[in-house]
Parts: sequence; C-alpha cells; structure tokens
Amino acid sequence: MKLKDKIALITGSTSGIGAGIAESFAKEGCHLVINGFGNREDIEKQRQYLESLSGATVMYEDADLAVPEDIDKMFGHIQTQFGGVDMVVNNAGIQFVSPIEDFPVQKWDQILAINLSASFHVIRHCIPYMKAQKFGRIINIASAHALTASPYKSAYVAAKHAIAGLTKTVALEVAEFGITVNAIAPAYVWTPLVEKQIPDTMKARNLTREQVIHEVMLKAQPTKKFVRIEEIANMALFLTGELACSITGSILSIDGGWTAQ
Ligand code: NAD
Repeated sequence: MKLKDKIALITGSTSGIGAGIAESFAKEGCHLVINGFGNREDIEKQRQYLESLSGATVMYEDADLAVPEDIDKMFGHIQTQFGGVDMVVNNAGIQFVSPIEDFPVQKWDQILAINLSASFHVIRHCIPYMKAQKFGRIINIASAHALTASPYKSAYVAAKHAIAGLTKTVALEVAEFGITVNAIAPAYVWTPLVEKQIPDTMKARNLTREQVIHEVMLKAQPTKKFVRIEEIANMALFLTGELACSITGSILSIDGGWTAQ
C-alpha cells in the first residue's frame, strides 16, 4: 500500500513525536490533517512545509481533543474535505507529575480526556469509512507507561494502560475489515512533554535536574539513551504498510529494554 493519495489524521502533531510522524508521512506523499495547539504563524509555516514535502493537501484542525464536540466538528471538516481518513495516529497527550493525594482533580480529568477518551472519539468517527473501504490503520501512541508504572504519574499511567486495552479491543472488532489497530509504547523521547515534567519531578522527588534526567528518566532505560522521534515515526510508517497487515492488537515497545526488566 503506497501512502500517496492516502489521507492521514495525526492528533497533537504541532510538536514533538506527532510533528515527526507528520513529516515522515508527508515525505511519502499522503494528504494530512494536522492538529494541536501552538502559535498560529508557526503552525501555518509547518503546514506549508509539510505540503512542500508531500505535494499533497495538508489541513490544520485546531480541535481541543479534551472536548468531544470539537472532535465531532473536526470530523465534519474532514468529511467535507476528504470524505474520511485512511490512517489515524492518536498521539495528542499531556503529562502531570504529583503525589496522588495532591493530584489536582482537574488535571486527572484533563489527562483522561486527552490521553484516553479523545482516542475513543477519534476511533468511533473513523471506523465507518475504514470499514466501508475495507482498509484502515489506527496507531495509538501509548507509552512504556501502558505496560509498567512509575510513581507520581497516576493519571498518565492509568490512561496509557487503558489505551492498551482500547487498542486490543478495537483490533478484535475490526480485524476482518482490513483495519489494523496497534499501539506504540515508547520510553522517554526528548520532547517538550518530557522537558516540562522535570521541574515537578524535581519537586516531587527532591532531586536536581541532572538527577531527574539520569536517575529517574534514563535509569529505567538500559540503553541509557533517549529514544529519537524518528524511531517512533519509522515504526508508525511501517505499520501503515501492506506487510504489516497481520500486526494488529499489538503493543509495540520502543523502550531501550525498559519493560524487558
Ligand atoms: P509534546 O508536548 O511535544 O506534543 C503534544 C502534542 O499534543 C502537541 O502538539 C500539543 O499541542 C498536543 N495537544 C496537547 N493537548 C491537546 C489538546 N487538548 N487538543 C489537541 N492537541 C493537544 O509531547 P510528545 O512528547 O510529542 O508526546 C506525544 C505523545 O507521545 C503523547 O501521547 C505522549 O504521552 C506520548 N509519549 C511521549 C513520550 C516522551 O518521552 N516524549 C514517551 C512515551 C509516550
């Protein structure tokens, strides 16, 4: 299956891993729907850059994925522009680090809404079109925290474990329709999401910045290296291919050996 002329939605693609996946898909010539927050001028520059790479249409949607009505509207626009999507990468996500007894209720709700429920809403919108054409690729960006836990990340770990369950369940429901549903489970990748959690981790664990990087983050990763965005994008691209048609319901670790321990 060539990506040229296919349509891909990548949520949370204005930064980090999502932006990397958008770039690698654009290089294959597919139409893209990008989404996420950020400075409008920067996003427009990114949109134009991706169009220059793909030679195809790149559409930006500003949906707040914590708001189901925004997701409905985004799919209305996608329906008008493209008729549906062939490939979806549920990538948008946030993190918050705090001991459970101090964990702000609003942060818990927000993390579950963005990191978990948004994927449910996106998936339920995209399945009818994929079923009708008997092809689809759904890739959920989970985390090593879909398979293992770390203290002070209760909402994130709960949401990511749930994403693993959602991935497996939907994979079973759509297996006979040429649709695969998988999750990628990366360890630490150096992105704004990781950088932003350093101060709260310093506070929660009474550590310095260097200690957080080496004794908390990279401690769990036997390779002692951050995973690169390109490694995640490469796996996502592989999963879209015809030769990946029997990989479904899998949680694919890219974690430098973290969860092998
Ligand atoms: P990032 O902060 O660089 O990017 C997150 C993206 O999500 C941004 O584009 C942001 O605008 C968007 N976003 C956030 N809230 C949103 C909302 N309400 N509606 C729409 N878009 C929203 O983070 P990242 O590190 O690239 O993370 C991407 C995904 O990868 C997340 O699901 C994260 O949990 C997962 N992940 C990251 C790492 C890591 O170490 N960076 C490791 C494992 C998993």
